Amino acid sequence: MIEGLHEGNKTIDESKQGEVTLLDSTKGGNKKLYLESYGCQMNFSDSEVVASILSKEGYETVSQSSEADVVLLNTCSIRDNAEQRVRTRLKQFKNAKKERPNLVVGVLGCMAERLKKKLLDQEKLVDLVAGPDAYRDLPGLISEVEGGQKAVNVLLSREETYADISPVRLDKNGVTAFISIMRGCDNMCSFCVVPFTRGRERSRDPQSIVQEAKELYDNGYREVTLLGQNVDSYRWNMSSKGRIKDESKPTVNFAELLEMVAQVAPDLRIRFSTSHPKDMTDDVLHAMAKYDNICKYIHLPVQSGNTEMLKKMNRGYSREWYMNRIEAIHRIIPGCAISTDIITGFCGETDEQHNETISLMKEVKYDFAYMFKYSERPRTLAERKYEDDVPDEVKKARLQEIIQLQQQHSAESNKRQLGKTFEVLIEGVSKKSDDDLCGRNTHNTMVVFPKGDYQKGQYVKVKVTDCTSATLLGEVVDEEKVLTTA
Ligand code: SAM
Ligand code: SF4
Repeated sequence: MIEGLHEGNKTIDESKQGEVTLLDSTKGGNKKLYLESYGCQMNFSDSEVVASILSKEGYETVSQSSEADVVLLNTCSIRDNAEQRVRTRLKQFKNAKKERPNLVVGVLGCMAERLKKKLLDQEKLVDLVAGPDAYRDLPGLISEVEGGQKAVNVLLSREETYADISPVRLDKNGVTAFISIMRGCDNMCSFCVVPFTRGRERSRDPQSIVQEAKELYDNGYREVTLLGQNVDSYRWNMSSKGRIKDESKPTVNFAELLEMVAQVAPDLRIRFSTSHPKDMTDDVLHAMAKYDNICKYIHLPVQSGNTEMLKKMNRGYSREWYMNRIEAIHRIIPGCAISTDIITGFCGETDEQHNETISLMKEVKYDFAYMFKYSERPRTLAERKYEDDVPDEVKKARLQEIIQLQQQHSAESNKRQLGKTFEVLIEGVSKKSDDDLCGRNTHNTMVVFPKGDYQKGQYVKVKVTDCTSATLLGEVVDEEKVLTTA
């Protein structure tokens, strides 16, 4: 599977699953916290909020669960295998408790809401369960457990955005950071559990977003990624029907928010994820074209190339609508990189319908794609309404087919960059060699080049001389014109 092949923004990055939060800034705390995270970038961002809340209570983060007073797992429910992985981990901690009965074990995030009763009462795997909107309550919940009770808060809120909590940064490179601009989702795609686990969509105060971007810039960060399940439906002081809530205050939509953040500093790069094809307006594309520091890269999940499937998925667009959005991207931002998410083997998908996904991929030629086989999730519309009737072998074979096709397209896309020069923001030393540095170009492709005297956080112009399927290789040049869009 190409989950995380391209070290992307929000979609699940396989190499990060189970990553431990470890922060120098919490050193010297009198209590020890072991915090492990799963799932999408949004969850990792939430772990920063959790670490911030608990560090104020005197918690120091540790790298070994054996040293911890409190173990927290920030979990994901998006596919069944994500949940199974966490369950295995919880069983290990349950065993550890036999020797250390005072150890507090808690589940946070998407599985919390879904499995609270099972995890607490039936399987007795954990002491504490806190949903994505209950993190402010964590110190209280931990005290309850220390007092001998089980503690649970999975209430979903219509308002909580943690706008006032300055997250302690997990991004170790000190150059790129994520900013959550909204929480929850109102879309109800029929396959998706997110609206049930993370609640209603709500947007965060734009001033607090701009403030956070400014603080990051002042602390040396040079790239921020704005995160939301559907960033195009970001709105401030407006109802979903467009009604202004408070006439005395300005309204802000996503295109306007992008401009506000782009104006923080010309050398602060802006990325965002995820765009939704049904809501992505030309205004957003024009804002991207207007500012050099808004990266020319759009993650636009299609899920399927067949209109009937899309209808069943409740995605709110047809194949034609989607292709019209692709055409608008090419027209307004020539050369913009595009990536996508695709699901194979959704309920009732025929060979013909699968072939339409293939033909759409051939038409669009995505630069990257995250591909999954359909995994039925409890409570979703699809679980209630449709039969999960595509045999697993068929789902897997279709997945394999699209992965191979995408690998071809990604390789072709990288080859097209040979000889071009890009501006690259240096993120640090390359994973493969200490003599090389790496960073991304505007299209979000990793570029590796010899170290020279360059430092992370600097922008350099790199001429591409070679490539692998996922990385561009090159050397720093001075004079050549930088290509930001082609
Ligand atoms: N909000 C984003 C959107 O609408 O595109 C995506 C959020 S979801 C965390 C990331 C991706 O996981 C989805 O785009 C979809 O391809 C995949 N996904 C979600 N539910 C799934 C399921 N039940 N089975 C397989 N893949 C799923
Ligand atoms: Fe899930 Fe659809 Fe919302 Fe994305 S837009 S989080 S796929 S319900």
